[in-house]
Amino acid sequence: MINKYELIVVGGGFAGVAASIAAAKNGINVLLVEKYNCLGGAAINGLIMPFMPFHTIMPDTKEKKYLTGNIFLEIIEEMNKISGTKNIDEKFDEEILKLVLNRMTLKYGVHLLFDTTVTEVFVSNGKITSVKALGKSALLELYADNFIDATGDAELSMLAGCGYKLGREKDSLCQPMTLCFRMSGVDKEKYRKNHAKINPLYKEFKEKGLIKNPREDVLIFNNFNEGVLHFNSTRIVQKDPTDPFEVTMAEIEAREQVFELHNFLKENIEGFENSKILSTALQIGIRESRKIEGEYTLTEEDLKSLARFDDAIAVANYDIDIHNPEGTGTSHYFFKNGEWYEIPYRCLIPKNMNNLLVAGRCISSTHEAQASYRIMPFCAELGHAAGTAVAVAIKNNTNVRDVDIKQLQNILRSEGFQI
Ligand SMILES: Cc1cc2nc3c(=O)[nH]c(=O)nc-3n(C[C@H](O)[C@H](O)[C@H](O)COP(=O)(O)OP(=O)(O)OC[C@H]3O[C@@H](n4cnc5c(N)ncnc54)[C@H](O)[C@@H]3O)c2cc1C
Repeated sequence: MINKYELIVVGGGFAGVAASIAAAKNGINVLLVEKYNCLGGAAINGLIMPFMPFHTIMPDTKEKKYLTGNIFLEIIEEMNKISGTKNIDEKFDEEILKLVLNRMTLKYGVHLLFDTTVTEVFVSNGKITSVKALGKSALLELYADNFIDATGDAELSMLAGCGYKLGREKDSLCQPMTLCFRMSGVDKEKYRKNHAKINPLYKEFKEKGLIKNPREDVLIFNNFNEGVLHFNSTRIVQKDPTDPFEVTMAEIEAREQVFELHNFLKENIEGFENSKILSTALQIGIRESRKIEGEYTLTEEDLKSLARFDDAIAVANYDIDIHNPEGTGTSHYFFKNGEWYEIPYRCLIPKNMNNLLVAGRCISSTHEAQASYRIMPFCAELGHAAGTAVAVAIKNNTNVRDVDIKQLQNILRSEGFQI
């Protein structure tokens, strides 16, 4: 049997899921390949939550305008049907997310291949012809006319020989890595009353050298489950998230930080006396790694000037949220109500490649620009745009570089995009 598709999407995070659904909805024969056993990407593997805001309030009408396309909103609606909530903006239950993403991708006709890692890419005349992958107990060769790299780390593009940049322009340092974790057995009533004491005491402990974690404060999110709190608060700096040995060191150091933080809270803050570490993420969370060298590089200036592009295929407005790649501190640049910037299609096109698009956190941009559009809702929007672009190209019998941009934009607008 030859495994041949019109489109192969590698990576089943929000970008890859939305890309696959968008293409399949348009009648394209799509295979979605994912390294782990379910969809959701960083939300699942890295235990990342909640969704950061993806709306704006229009200053004149006070209307709340959502900025992603309707695939992301449909994912939320489907989760709400199961959980019985009407929550749109933030929290989600990852077990429900995994179920919903399976059901939605299958409903639209996406072929799924789990527990499979793409390890090799074959290129001929500027086109990927096939990829090799290690599946569960079998080596596979998979063929397609077009490919989308939604691996977060631009692994498909890197394996295809495309150019990329790592981290900051000046020194290649990336935003810190974070191992997210949860504590159970927390008395939330007492925790709420004592919440204000945590950060001043944490700072005192840091000054005395009793806490080694370079993060400046403790970042805690509430969780649906009784007695459970979610922590996005470890910080590993100055390690390369694309070097397997450095990532191993990061995982080891971050796990020490998990226990350091737990001991600090258990011993010093009322409400944590009976707490336990419930779970740590399957892998350390990577905010930033490779970003492809594309036909356009989105910059901080583009974001701050609320740039508009003739080939816009997405918008975003999350703050430029930079966790210090060198140590302590986090910087922000917030957009005002009614403000958003556009992202051009050219950021999704790697140089010198004719049948590959990139979606999600690894599109072509600078370190600063990536710090804004990297959140899950906008990664879904970028995937939605990429999958639709492939469908338009296939229907018009062109390659993805020469896609009819007006036709693409019209479809995206009809699917909720604010371009
Ligand atoms: C610590 C941390 C906190 C964050 N906090 C938030 C937050 O609160 N809210 C928010 O909205 N965003 C947050 N983000 C950002 C957000 O989670 C990510 O930027 C976003 O999920 C990236 O989506 P993606 O689809 O591009 O990639 P990913 O979600 O990383 O998906 C990539 C997928 O590709 C798979 N893959 C990779 N290589 C291969 C291969 N070779 N073969 C097969 N499969 C492969 C991976 O297993 C993964 O499932 C945070 C990120 C981090 C690290």
